[in-house]
Amino acid sequence: MTPSPLPASPILALGRPRATFRVVWLIVAGFLALVGGVVAKSLFDDYRTIQTTEKDRLASQAKVVHDNIADYLASIKRVLVQIRGQVPAWRQQGDGMAIATQWFTVLDEALPVLRTINIQDESGLLIASNRQELVGKNFREGSYFAAPRANPDSDRLYVTPPFKTALGAWTIVVAMIVPGPAGEFAGVVTAAIDPEAFKVLLASVRYAPDVSVGLNHGDGVIFLTEPPGESQYGLNLKGLGGFFDRHVESGRPENSFEGVMRATNRPRMAALRTIQPASLGMDKALMVVVSRNRDSVYAPWRRDAWTQGGLYGLLVLVSLASVFGLQWRSKIAGAEAARAETARRENEERHRLFFNSGNDAIFVQRVDPETGLPTGPFVEVNDVACQRLGYSRDELLAMTAFDLDDPATPTDDAHARSLTEQETATYERLHVAKDGRRIPVEVNARRFQFRGEPMVLATVRDITERKALEDELKRSNADLEQFAYVASHDLREPLRTVASFVSLLERKYGDRLDLEGHEFIAFARDGAQRMDGLVLDLLDYSRVGRSNEPQAPVPLAEALDEALRNLATLIETSGATIETTADLPTLRGVRGELVRLFQNLIANALKYRAPDRPPRVAIGAERQGRQWVVTVTDNGIGIEPQHLERIFGIFKRLHTAKDYDGSGIGLAVCKKIVEHHHGRIWASSVPGQGSTFHVALPADPTGRVSRTA
Ligand code: ADP
Repeated sequence: MTPSPLPASPILALGRPRATFRVVWLIVAGFLALVGGVVAKSLFDDYRTIQTTEKDRLASQAKVVHDNIADYLASIKRVLVQIRGQVPAWRQQGDGMAIATQWFTVLDEALPVLRTINIQDESGLLIASNRQELVGKNFREGSYFAAPRANPDSDRLYVTPPFKTALGAWTIVVAMIVPGPAGEFAGVVTAAIDPEAFKVLLASVRYAPDVSVGLNHGDGVIFLTEPPGESQYGLNLKGLGGFFDRHVESGRPENSFEGVMRATNRPRMAALRTIQPASLGMDKALMVVVSRNRDSVYAPWRRDAWTQGGLYGLLVLVSLASVFGLQWRSKIAGAEAARAETARRENEERHRLFFNSGNDAIFVQRVDPETGLPTGPFVEVNDVACQRLGYSRDELLAMTAFDLDDPATPTDDAHARSLTEQETATYERLHVAKDGRRIPVEVNARRFQFRGEPMVLATVRDITERKALEDELKRSNADLEQFAYVASHDLREPLRTVASFVSLLERKYGDRLDLEGHEFIAFARDGAQRMDGLVLDLLDYSRVGRSNEPQAPVPLAEALDEALRNLATLIETSGATIETTADLPTLRGVRGELVRLFQNLIANALKYRAPDRPPRVAIGAERQGRQWVVTVTDNGIGIEPQHLERIFGIFKRLHTAKDYDGSGIGLAVCKKIVEHHHGRIWASSVPGQGSTFHVALPADPTGRVSRTA
């Protein structure tokens, strides 16, 4: 698997919210329109079904009434035809009319629909009637006489307009002419119909309490309703623009209407049917009207419509509210996301700025948690890295840390590996830029976890200048050391000459010299010896750090033992107690130099002992962070605080050779050794009680001791 660069933060895909909103609204509007359409269609269908069903029902009731009344009229016509057939015979018989009257009475009783049956002669004189009191009167003016007289037709059944009788009842009269022997007009036979007889019929077709049935004359006058509405009787519907007029205008025998009914001024649904069967030859029609309260008809439908409309309204409200709510929330979320995105960008920019400004190159690489070694190419590099090395970011992201190292300089993975134990490591490397330039760098590597993956962030500092200075310093130090070495080496030669000639002088002329002369010679030899000692010490000093002994792990306990062995006589003669108060660590260094370090410090502890007490020396060690501090403590004369630093200088002494033998080079050598091991040495003391010499050495072989420790 090829490790990829660090993933960028995910960028919220916000799309184009406005366009999306419009689409959502359109979809919802479409959906609502569709549902609305379906609801409306279903309601409309229901409405039509109710309307048709109800109209059919009304029409069929009207037909029942029509058929029955037509039957009545047919029977009445038959009766009239029978009667007029008898009229010539009755007129010739003397008691003919009395017989007729008897007939009529029987008929009247048999057919309740017949109120009065009359026969009038051609002059209008009533010649026979079931109502005896009317016989002999002339009723030529009645329309039941006038109309047939004016237009005689023997097949015709004449129907008069309704009128109120003297008894207060509404009635219509039907009449037929009585033809003479030559077929001429010879009078009429009439029957007054009692509409009350139809009441049962009309009532029987009322299938609901709001159904009303009415009969009116073909000219428009109402003469019977059920339930009874006497106030309407006699009302002429003609010309009122209501159902009646529409029915007449239509020319059709039956019609269904909805609207305001003139008779009652109420919205109603009605079926109208003309009663004028062709077989009866009626001159005027009758009409039956069966109607219902329109509101009652549609009441269940209206309830349904309200329910469905309400549900639909609710659906619309809920849909709109949901869409609005969703969009509102999505708008808020969008705004929040935009805010977060801005914040993220700013943050990213800030980090990029911090990451890229500064003088150090930064590399991030995944590491193997086991070995601590980088695995795969860099996952992040900053601009400084690119600029310094001359590679593009992409080029660097395809490289590993090893690709940057100078192949000619062997590298040690120890520091990189040390990252498995500790958080950070500092080490030097030689990087090679794209153009081949070699750049000495100091790498500061820090381990961290990114999304659970172990990584190392290396801050890489260009130390070209420091290196140049160090090299310069090294060179000048080397020159100096070379000079000291050569000088001291060469100085011994004339010194030896001086000493040997002084000895020669003494040997050859000794007996001739007085006491003072011997003393002078002794001074001269002593001076030459002391000078030789100094030169030897100087030689010694200059040799520190120049030995060929390589650095290696040195158990300090062993170095201490060796130093004590070298000092065995001195320790014995001084009666000193030496104790080690802690386990000494193993550190990397030059063994001989570390022996020398202990030896010088312990020798001093013995040398500068207090006259009144036997010397006691304690050697301790303590780990302090990344360093070990080794201490050599004595109970000697101690050092005044103002001298604590200068005693480490070359030939710096606090005493004369008379009081304490020495040249003042011992601590200078110690200092040089410690610095050669990247350490630090210092002293502390309570004058009169004793001194402690502290030596801090790096615990990590690659590190340095901190400068403030
Ligand atoms: P030398 O011992 O040859 O004089 P050093 O460099 O070893 O030179 O010591 C420098 C001076 O530091 C000494 O002259 C002495 O005055 C002082 N000194 C060193 N060690 C001790 C000690 N343990 N106690 C007191 N003074 C010391």
